[in-house]
Amino acid sequence: MSEKRAAAAPHAPKLPPAKLFIGGQWAEPEGGKTFATENPATEATICEVASGSPADVDRAVEAAQAALDGGWGETSARDRGRILWNVADALEARIDEFALVETLDNGKPIFESRYVDVPAGIAALRYYAGWADKIHGDTFPVEGPFVFAYTLREPMGVVGAITPWNFPIIQALWKIAAALACGNTVVHKPASYTPLTALKFAELACEAGLPAGALNVLPGGGSAVGGAMVGHPDIAKISFTGSTEVGQTIMKQAADTVKRVTLELGGKSPNIVFADGDIEAAVKGAYNGIFYGKGEVCAAGSRLFVERSVHDQLLEKLIDRTERLQPGDPLHPKTRMGALVSSSQRDTVMGYVDIGKNEGAEVATGGTTADVDGKGYFMRPTILTGVDNSMRVAQEEIFGPVLVAIPFDEPEEAVQLANASIYGLAAGVWTRDVGKAHKVAAQLQAGTVWINQYNWYDSGAPFGGYKQSGFGRELGRAAIEHYTETKTVFVGT
Ligand code: NAD
Repeated sequence: MSEKRAAAAPHAPKLPPAKLFIGGQWAEPEGGKTFATENPATEATICEVASGSPADVDRAVEAAQAALDGGWGETSARDRGRILWNVADALEARIDEFALVETLDNGKPIFESRYVDVPAGIAALRYYAGWADKIHGDTFPVEGPFVFAYTLREPMGVVGAITPWNFPIIQALWKIAAALACGNTVVHKPASYTPLTALKFAELACEAGLPAGALNVLPGGGSAVGGAMVGHPDIAKISFTGSTEVGQTIMKQAADTVKRVTLELGGKSPNIVFADGDIEAAVKGAYNGIFYGKGEVCAAGSRLFVERSVHDQLLEKLIDRTERLQPGDPLHPKTRMGALVSSSQRDTVMGYVDIGKNEGAEVATGGTTADVDGKGYFMRPTILTGVDNSMRVAQEEIFGPVLVAIPFDEPEEAVQLANASIYGLAAGVWTRDVGKAHKVAAQLQAGTVWINQYNWYDSGAPFGGYKQSGFGRELGRAAIEHYTETKTVFVGT
């Protein structure tokens, strides 16, 4: 072990047992199957995790339905808020422990887990705790003598939450906090690469007062658990975050039961720098936009469009900054780029570097794996130049630390290039011209547009996609609308 790794060696983390979490307790998986979860920075097995089956989905849905009919269903809206707030406090009290487990499971720097991911989960819990007793319907003037009409916003029922591995605790809590605040109960399937914090969270939430069965967690295979959830007649809604490909499968399958779905899918987000922008700030924004989170970020600014007159100057600064970003031990507090989540993810991302080279792109920096004590799935942050927007590396989601840079001449061209994508999750605009900033923001086909910043999120602001980046929104009031049904009541006399 190098000095750098030794300096960062953690206390032994508290890991969940190799069981499912159903009805407020640890439960053996039917069939007794487990799988190993691996630390991508060391390639060592962290622990065994229970692998759920369709029969386990049935059990979890029964527990969630029982909680809907009893414990959680009978909890007043105000008490739901209080309990969610207590859960947030309990998580905050154990923030270091959760951050450590998140980093071990995902390979992201401890700096990110400790100061961004777990705090963002806590923020979502508190935000939706505040909403719990403020969700209400409306009254309407309607035709007819003394006819009175009003709406109720009711919980949908059992919500199935299916999450990816890149922001495990954040993605889980964005869904769980909003769904519970609305009075739903939840069956959650975390991604197989990163199931640990979700399991730990379910236990913590019950200890902090969440009634048994309100939150159930089933790790396991995509189709064995996720598919069984989507097909289950007693799950009212699926809230899915993951790839566009799996989202398409879910959307088709959900049609059989006309299940409500929210799909938060992939992206290939444009980050546009105009010559009148603050170039230093844009360099920093382009760098964070693609290399934060190892580029395993749905909204990563993976296509950088730079006005030609400042293109070379900006690229020079960006390459210089990128070359100083050294992948390292995720547990070291100074590390800013960790390990990619798995060997196959690194192979996929490295494969795209080759695809880019074969298409005629040049590797301006990076493009190789990185050696951190001979273990782990590290790669160097990479910038490809000489790229045309029609190339595969400019059109397909790479989901790793690979940026493609493309020059443009006119604002209209930048917008046209930015919108020439099947995706529409996010976009960035860098300019000091306020009018241009608003005009371009309006023209971009993206669910989120950042002006003179990138990768900013807030529990109060809706997040979601246009086009094949999905539909429905997480966060803000928008999520409340997606986790409730509207019932209209007419009262005659
Ligand atoms: P993935 O689609 O492979 O898996 C996501 C989840 O779906 C996992 O829990 C997986 O086990 C499950 N799953 C797989 N097959 C399933 C099936 N047939 N039925 C039901 N569930 C199934 O995605 P991933 O590799 O875990 O995550 C990366 C992807 O997620 C990227 O495309 C990224 O852009 C996207 N993502 C989107 C957002 C967003 O908010 N739009 C956020 C984060 C990640």
